[in-house]
Amino acid sequence: MRLSRYLIPTLRDAPSDADNVSAKLMQRAGLIRKVAAGLYDWLPVGLRVVKKVEKIVREEMDRIGGQEVWLPVVQPKELWEETGRWKIYGKELLRLKDRKNGEFCFAPTAEEVITDLVRREIRSWRQLPAMFYQFGLKFRDEIRPRFGVMRAREFLMKDAYSFHVDDADAGAYYEQVYQAYQKVFTRCGLRFKPVEAQSGAIGGSYSHEFMVLAETGEETVVACKACSYGANLERAECTAPAAQPQDAPAKLEEVHTPNMGSVAEVAKALDMSPVKFFKTQLYMADGVPLMALVRGDHELNEPKLARAAGAAMLDRCSETQYMGIAGCEVGFAGPVNLPRWKNPQGQMITVRIIADLALQGVANGVSGANRRDYHLKGINAGRDFQADAFADIRSATPADPCPRCGGAVEFTKGIEVGHTFKLGTKYSKAMNAAYLDAQQKSQIMVMGCYGIGVTRVVAAAIEQNHDDNGIKWPVALAPFTVVIIPVETDDAAVKEAAETLYKGLWDRGVETLLDDRAERPGVRFKDADLVGYPLRVVVSKKTLAEGEVEFKRRDGATPERIKLDAIEDRLFDWAQPVPAPPVAA
Ligand code: ATP
Ligand code: MG
Repeated sequence: MRLSRYLIPTLRDAPSDADNVSAKLMQRAGLIRKVAAGLYDWLPVGLRVVKKVEKIVREEMDRIGGQEVWLPVVQPKELWEETGRWKIYGKELLRLKDRKNGEFCFAPTAEEVITDLVRREIRSWRQLPAMFYQFGLKFRDEIRPRFGVMRAREFLMKDAYSFHVDDADAGAYYEQVYQAYQKVFTRCGLRFKPVEAQSGAIGGSYSHEFMVLAETGEETVVACKACSYGANLERAECTAPAAQPQDAPAKLEEVHTPNMGSVAEVAKALDMSPVKFFKTQLYMADGVPLMALVRGDHELNEPKLARAAGAAMLDRCSETQYMGIAGCEVGFAGPVNLPRWKNPQGQMITVRIIADLALQGVANGVSGANRRDYHLKGINAGRDFQADAFADIRSATPADPCPRCGGAVEFTKGIEVGHTFKLGTKYSKAMNAAYLDAQQKSQIMVMGCYGIGVTRVVAAAIEQNHDDNGIKWPVALAPFTVVIIPVETDDAAVKEAAETLYKGLWDRGVETLLDDRAERPGVRFKDADLVGYPLRVVVSKKTLAEGEVEFKRRDGATPERIKLDAIEDRLFDWAQPVPAPPVAA
């Protein structure tokens, strides 16, 4: 491409509402333009990057037997009602009506549609396993679209769905997808980490998220420094601390703690460590009260609590609900002498208590007395209250050991670019996707689903690879690998050398941009750094006089001189992206 005939509208300043590095750089470098909240135009140079990601993903999906399909973005309500998701998806689902008043949604994902296709077309165990994937536009009416295309409302996703005769086959295939994802992100030239994850609205029992590591990431990743363990903070396991020598049980005693509602205040007043505190929080779990206890120096982890409680909906209690359940304000509630709760039907119910594993080691602890301005000290679980369960319900800290090997962990930030789920029969059962087994018996298929946020990968690559001057594309994702800048655009020899190199590189498949604009060289150098082409060649009268051109890598090295007759071969070699890892046997 010749830049004089190609639209890369670079900007000196980012629009004021661009709220992270990639959103700023993608607009400044002319990759995208904002149309409305969470909706973007992809300009030619931006789309080239999307296509690069798409190509890598497609190749790796094909290598594990994926069959590419194309599913509708506008999907009928009836299918979404079969799984109950028409109701539970909530406001993220954009709903529309057609001219006949038929109700539809704009696809946020496609489990229903693909399961419907498969139940109609696949009948026999002989046709399984099967994996179908697509590159499809998704729309999610995110509460807070932000960070440019990273959390957009409309975005491009590769979504894949696999169907199996049983759990064992689905599990074995999950491993293959996991390996394919490793190849995808390796080939993209990104630093990443797969982590164990909590499955959200899509559901399923087991899942991994693939995180591109970047300081600006929204997610906290707990990674073991010694082994391969990695987990999302929502999920990272905490082990119970080793048993400590116990103090002899003390007498339960009420202490006056006027206006002291926080662990820190009470700990100071009583001159005790927060480690001795049963920190108390009340929730409504599927409409029933639940008391959660964690150690005073720990943080409660709501996704873990929801799992431990087996609750689909977990809501923090309001001040009024605290009064109704514990008879006191937030900050003074505790597990001892907890009143029974009257449910809306008028029945008296014992409030369920789930305590964190770390509390098993606390003797003579402190907690609220269920009475304003009072706490209790000398609390011993078992003697003074009964926990219904001790479970892992707190967030890991950097001081926690790795739950697998006991090694030290580190906390890093990441951007979720891919997600794999073992779905089990959640959708196939609801939609009756069945096959006939070898005995002609009908069986429900077992499913998996696997997403990659193609457009989010583009933004994540920038978050990970940039400097003050602009983007630093990994070769595999660069919109053009080489940019040639002829300094004197009106000089015949300079022009000819630049054109010859340009044509030669294209003939050998190296995607090259010729910046032939009649702009000052300084402007063109700045643009080249901003858009971030990995390799830059400057052709000038001065260097040509010595039979040379100037070459510079975007990733930092200082410019070097290279012989004109050697440059094409050198560029060809450097332009090769990370090779694909070998295909598994
Ligand atoms: P998140 O927790 O970030 O909202 P999710 O769990 O809702 O993600 P999935 O439903 O697993 O995401 O979707 C698969 C992939 O699609 C994600 O891994 C992510 O890369 C991408 N994705 C999800 N939501 C968005 C969005 N609003 N904008 C761009 N990409 C997205
Ligand atoms: Mg989401």
